Amino acid sequence: MNTYIGSEEILRKKSQYIIPCVYHFYNHPMQLVRGEMQYLYDSTGKEYLDCFAGVSVVNCGHCNPEITKAICEQVNTLQHTCTIYLTENIVNLAEQLAHITPGRLQKTFFCSSGSEANEGAALLATLYTGNSEFISLRQGLHGRTKLGMSLTGLSMWRTDPNPVGGISFAPNAYCYRCPYDKKYPSCDLACANEIETIIKTATSGKVAAMFAEPIQGNGGMVTPPPDYFKRVKSILDAYGILLIIDEVQTGFGRTGKMFAMEHYDVEPDIMTMAKALGNGTPVGAFTARAEIADIYTRPGASTLGGNPVTAAASLATLRYIQENDLPAKAAVLGKVLKDGLTLLQQKYPIIGDIRGLGLMIGAELVYADKTPAMKETDYILEEMKNRGFLVGKNGPNRNTLAFQPPLVITTADINNLLNNLDDVLSSIKI
Ligand code: PMP
Repeated sequence: MNTYIGSEEILRKKSQYIIPCVYHFYNHPMQLVRGEMQYLYDSTGKEYLDCFAGVSVVNCGHCNPEITKAICEQVNTLQHTCTIYLTENIVNLAEQLAHITPGRLQKTFFCSSGSEANEGAALLATLYTGNSEFISLRQGLHGRTKLGMSLTGLSMWRTDPNPVGGISFAPNAYCYRCPYDKKYPSCDLACANEIETIIKTATSGKVAAMFAEPIQGNGGMVTPPPDYFKRVKSILDAYGILLIIDEVQTGFGRTGKMFAMEHYDVEPDIMTMAKALGNGTPVGAFTARAEIADIYTRPGASTLGGNPVTAAASLATLRYIQENDLPAKAAVLGKVLKDGLTLLQQKYPIIGDIRGLGLMIGAELVYADKTPAMKETDYILEEMKNRGFLVGKNGPNRNTLAFQPPLVITTADINNLLNNLDDVLSSIKI
């Protein structure tokens, strides 16, 4: 006999006690009560294959026993002290990050979320360059703090009517809907080249940094061409502007490499991380080259940042990712999923575009004239949920199906997902 209060009571309490901006998926949402690796269970005992991983967080699976063990051991020994006292997990974790992050990235500051990591990275860029303007990308998302929201290029997530000034937005590398109506590669990366025009026309010339996600998660899995970031970096370097890469959603094996920037072979000046680093424990971090990091000498403290428990969880997460070679798994299984989706695309023209790397894949749903098929996206999400599959959605029009499962998913799971998606797609008449 369980004692769960159930979805209806949760919805009632939610509307009475939670600020309404906290929205949820589904017309008929379930109460989730338990997780086990790639599976979730609701209050009635029904099993779901999680294909969204809490938005790219539980890369190592729900309640992964090895990570849970490390967390419990640490909770039972020393939970919190704050960085004014010395503990060892935080420095061991920073050392690990120095090893696995690209290039010369070396020194880390820990906080508790992706938004905070981006705020901190922006501050560091300002301190280092002496400049305070920023460039960001349309359709990017960098957080819900004042600055994070102001750096975000999605109207849905820009609730603040008085955003921070001094931020110029560049067109993103959205090849499916190219802002210049060009085709890659004959476009010669017009969207990247535009950044130089923006620097020269929309800014004072004193820009601290440009923010970019390697793949825009909330933006609809927008995946730039392979040489995009090289061009961007060379433009920024010419103007002394830092590149801050937000790997909050793409990091830790998700795209088939430890970090998505490795696909682009470009070394960021500062990199921000969160989500999958803690596999569900609240962690955020930004890492910079020593030369940049060493400018930040005035006191900076995050009360819970890098605390013994989240650092233990993160260390166990990194160990699990490496020991089980999850990046390689994501590459192989991502191909199975992408190939399967491509076959479905041939059958169902509503799938307009499939994009992404590794197990970060989006399928943009459109009508024959390429306008966004929003209603159908919601229908698919609900029907897939009823069949026991949790798929995400994103993009400025919320018409891109998002597949970001825990990286411990199996080929059988993916085939099961694809068969069910096939059935649901066949029931759509447009
Ligand atoms: N950056 C990116 C790319 C994100 O996807 C998110 C969250 N969806 C954030 C930053 C903000 O992270 P958090 O919710 O942990 O503050």
